[in-house]
Amino acid sequence: MRKQIVAGNWKMNNDLAMTESLITELKKHVKISDADMMIAPAFTNLWHAFEALRHSDIEVVAQNMHFAESGAYTGEISAGMLKSVGIQTVILGHSERRAYFNETDDLLAQKVNTALKNNMRVIFCFGEELADRKSNNHEMVVENQIKKALFHLNSDAFNSLILAYEPVWAIGTGETASPEQAQDMHAFIRETLANKYGQNLADSVSILYGGSVKPNNAREIFSKPDVDGGLIGGAALKAEDFMAIVNAF
Ligand code: PGA
Repeated sequence: MRKQIVAGNWKMNNDLAMTESLITELKKHVKISDADMMIAPAFTNLWHAFEALRHSDIEVVAQNMHFAESGAYTGEISAGMLKSVGIQTVILGHSERRAYFNETDDLLAQKVNTALKNNMRVIFCFGEELADRKSNNHEMVVENQIKKALFHLNSDAFNSLILAYEPVWAIGTGETASPEQAQDMHAFIRETLANKYGQNLADSVSILYGGSVKPNNAREIFSKPDVDGGLIGGAALKAEDFMAIVNAF
C-alpha cells in the first residue's frame, strides 16, 4: 500500500508569529483521514515549527536545500543544518526554484544525491509548462525531468522519494488540472518508473498532485487511483482549508 500524503508548502509566507498561530490553529482541527500530513515553513521558522509539532502527527519539512555539505555558499542551507533542527524531509525541484533560481535537472540530481546521502526523504517536484501541454509535449517533458534528475539512482533510493507532479500552469493560478488530466499523467509517471525499475517499485512510490488544490476539488482529485495525495500552496495558509484538504481522503 502506498502512503497517502498531504503536504503544505508555505513558500515565502508567514513570519515567526504567523507560523506560531497557524500551527496553533492546525492543532485545533481534528484529522480524520489516514493521510500523512506535512508542512513546509520558511527556513527561519523550521526549528520553532519542529518544536511546536514534536508530539503531533504533522511532520515539518524544508522547502529547499543546497547540494554541498558545507562551505563558501553565502546564504545557503545544507542538509546537515536541516537535520540538526529535526528536519528529515526536503522539497526539491519546485517549479519556482526551477524558474526563478535557475535550478536545472542536473543540479537537482546533485541535490537529490546529497539529501539521500544524509538519509533524508525527498519530495521531488516536476511538471510541464502551459506551452508544453498546448503542443502536446507534456509527457515527454515530464519523462525527461524524471529521467535526468532521478534515473541514476538505484531502486533502494525510491524508498526515500515522494514524487510531486505539479503542472506549472496550475500553480497559484486557480486553474487545476482536471482529475482526469492528473490521473493520466500520474499513470504515465508510474509507467515510466515501471519501465526502468519494474512494476513493484512503481506501485510503491507515492505520487502527489500539486496546483490549485482547494477544499472544493481535493476529494475528486484524490479519488483517482494513481493520485496519492497533494502538495498544497495557497490553501495551506489557512488551517481550516488545509485540514479540509487533508480530510478529503
Ligand atoms: P498552489 O501551489 O496550491 O498555490 O497552486 C502549489 C505548489 O506550488 O506547491
